[in-house]
Amino acid sequence: MRTRASIVTALGAGFETEDLEIDDPIGREVLIEVKASGLCHSDLHAATTGLGFPFPAVFGHEIAGVVRSVGPETTGIVPGQHVVASLVQFCGDCAACRSDRTYQCERPAETGRGDGEAPRLRRADGQPVVAAFGTGGFSELCLVHENQVVVVSDDLPFPVAAILGCATITGAGAAINSAGVRVGDSVAVIGLGGVGLNVISGARLAGATTIVAIDAQEEKLALAPRFGATHTVHADGETDVVAAVQQITGGGVDHAFEVIGLASTTQDAIRMTRVGGAANLIGIHRPGSTIAVDPGDLLISQRTIRGIYMGSSNIKTDIPRYARLYQQGRLNLDDLIAREIALDDVAEAYEQLRSGTTARSVITDFAGR
Ligand SMILES: [Zn+2]
Ligand SMILES: [Zn+2]
Repeated sequence: MRTRASIVTALGAGFETEDLEIDDPIGREVLIEVKASGLCHSDLHAATTGLGFPFPAVFGHEIAGVVRSVGPETTGIVPGQHVVASLVQFCGDCAACRSDRTYQCERPAETGRGDGEAPRLRRADGQPVVAAFGTGGFSELCLVHENQVVVVSDDLPFPVAAILGCATITGAGAAINSAGVRVGDSVAVIGLGGVGLNVISGARLAGATTIVAIDAQEEKLALAPRFGATHTVHADGETDVVAAVQQITGGGVDHAFEVIGLASTTQDAIRMTRVGGAANLIGIHRPGSTIAVDPGDLLISQRTIRGIYMGSSNIKTDIPRYARLYQQGRLNLDDLIAREIALDDVAEAYEQLRSGTTARSVITDFAGR
């Protein structure tokens, strides 16, 4: 059947709306009518700097919608249910998956189609199109393996539900699952996009008493207290950010989170931790970039540097948990959504995101103009 989608035909070619053909669900696939699809920075990275994806591709991995149909081997998901789809691909059967570490799955490709099977997406001339991350959510319809799909309650607003699928599990999960923030801890977060603000939320939920929000943009700093930040530091190019954090915390934070993906701010994150603290790396760096680390200093200061993928989240349990916290008024998601846009506006909205002015744009209008 036909689906309107925002397609990237080649690396750096930009986003354009095109009518594509989407296959029927087979095996354990779920066909989702997309109602909300968030614009995450990772898609822009993949579309412009390359993370190894083949093209043409449809990006979009922060998705909420309604199940339209399911493949014959799907269990537990039925048409009509409201769902969130996430980019965490896991087989459910390897040693990691069986140990509740689905985010470390050894065989994530098992959620995709095999070589002998028809592609999920193709152009009108038959050219196969990659649904990036196994989702391809910048589209009216998407086909996703049921392991990547989580049922949510019907009264959860779609734009909010979409955010749960990436920004929230990545950010809040990093604080709660990966870093293990505890009651009374001190936290610093560098970079206040959708993920960074969710790190702040996670730190608050975990009981951190000092949460320092750091960004170059004053409007983002103004947003941070609504998520639980207790202090803000304006990285205006003149302020010594590390010294400011050390002063606020009396020596450094227990947990620093870098959510931008730059060498300089990664060094700052390491330096602003206390003796025995941990620098948690979430931001996606350009391929091939490196940072210098003094191992002697690391030893003496007993610091940890931790790489975090998707907030160490098990989506099937974590996404419903965050949905409940939102509905109880304990997790702020409403203030993350800067604006709702149409599918045709993806390129323009990413231009805004690149200039760093909005928290999250969410596609909610998939019809043509
Ligand atoms: Zn994302
Ligand atoms: Zn697995």
